[in-house]
Amino acid sequence: MTGNEIRKSFIDFFKSKEHKYFESASLIPDDKTLLLTVAGMVPFKSFFLGEKEAPFKRITTYQKCIRTNDLENVGVTTRHQTFFEMLGNFSFGDYFKREAIFWSWEYITEILKLDSEKLWVSVFLDDDEAYDIWNKEVGVPEERIVRLGEDDNWWAAGPIGSCGPCSEIYIDLGEKLGCGNLDCKPGCDCDRYLEIWNLVFTEWNRLEDGSLIPLPEKNIDTGAGLERIAAVMQKKESNFDTDLFIPIINETEKILEVERNNKTDKALKIIADHVRAAAFLIGDGVLPSNEGRGYILRKLIRRAFGVASTIKERIFEKEDIFLYRLVPVVAEIMKEAYPEMESKIDYIEKVMKIEEEKFTVTLKNGVEILKEEVEKLKKDGKDKFPSEISFKLYDTYGFPFELTKEVLEYEEIEVSEDEFLEKLEEQKIRSKSSKETISDMIKDEFIDEFYEKHGKTKFIGYEEKEAKAKI
Ligand code: ATP
Ligand code: MG
Ligand code: MG
Ligand code: MG
Repeated sequence: MTGNEIRKSFIDFFKSKEHKYFESASLIPDDKTLLLTVAGMVPFKSFFLGEKEAPFKRITTYQKCIRTNDLENVGVTTRHQTFFEMLGNFSFGDYFKREAIFWSWEYITEILKLDSEKLWVSVFLDDDEAYDIWNKEVGVPEERIVRLGEDDNWWAAGPIGSCGPCSEIYIDLGEKLGCGNLDCKPGCDCDRYLEIWNLVFTEWNRLEDGSLIPLPEKNIDTGAGLERIAAVMQKKESNFDTDLFIPIINETEKILEVERNNKTDKALKIIADHVRAAAFLIGDGVLPSNEGRGYILRKLIRRAFGVASTIKERIFEKEDIFLYRLVPVVAEIMKEAYPEMESKIDYIEKVMKIEEEKFTVTLKNGVEILKEEVEKLKKDGKDKFPSEISFKLYDTYGFPFELTKEVLEYEEIEVSEDEFLEKLEEQKIRSKSSKETISDMIKDEFIDEFYEKHGKTKFIGYEEKEAKAKI
């Protein structure tokens, strides 16, 4: 099944269970407490909190989501992206646990036809009701049901208010992807048990004193990851090997003239993920800037562009900008589900191009210094990068530390983040601006300061480069 077919089959399935289909909402939520849409339930939050009445008791959606907390996981785990789609079914004071559980099982075993022997489920510690439905009614044997705690299996809108237990469906991808521990089970951080679906049973109201009272209207909120299901259905080890990503990776290989191998794999995945996220953010009206959503967008574009420079021998020049060229590929893959993407291609390309061009200036200076230092270290048989230089790169040249890390990981050279942060702290104390916290925002401010101080510097030649490397 293709990604498009899975998306459609999910919606059709829940339509057949009398759900009303709603189009994906924007990545920019209509909610001041949230920067981005991070889950399928976000557009319906006010219904879940009882602030507004839902127009339909049963709703189904595929929702575009961005989770920046998974940024560092991209290309590291098989299952995380920043941008992903969540398939969901929702009940507002209508059906509850039994139907939610039965229908998720029906969809997975009868529509997707996954082998039930490989499926595991989790329930919240003391949620015996869910346990019994899975075990006695659906027939999942007790060996494949785990009880997980708050971190994995409890959902709460905040410290007080609506909350409730979750139940998740996992698929066992086999020992080969496991951590090797004998007690490895769903909930383990390794890639063996892939969490594909989370069912949230919102049934409690937590009061100020911490006590729980039953909600008058119980709700269901579920979320299944489209790309994870695609990986399972297409028998691929990672989300990035599905038809939702492969055309982007192929095009990137072509443009950058690199081959996908152990060394380039992570960078290619980061590029494929970040370009999708950036394209959709721009499509939803975000522009690169130094704060909020604009900052996230800027960071995604710069990180994608930056990692590309780590897998290329040649240092990136203005004419090497390439991310914008992937936009039509993203639109082509996604147009069935998001037809508006096609008409926005030109605009998205333009915004991306400007940001890429801006970044080449910073990048070029940084990468040159970095690569030269690496050569020096290798010649001297050393494998630890001096933190004075990683700090200098950032502080004087506006080169993001994250990128230093990425380049050095590729070169198999160690760099200490703690030492870098120490230096940052020392410098802040020196400059008496200690009220600022160490945040990514500051890193970016440096980039802009750099532009201000130096303008769009032109590369002047080897001597200059060498002089910089010696600083
Ligand atoms: P994980 O434990 O794997 O990080 P999660 O428990 O954080 O996932 P949920 O918040 O329960 O995820 O979201 C519901 C579903 O959305 C997950 O079961 C998964 O299929 C999908 N999902 C969540 N985060 C991501 C991501 N970063 N990339 C792709 N799919 C995701
Ligand atoms: Mg997660
Ligand atoms: Mg989880
Ligand atoms: Mg979960």
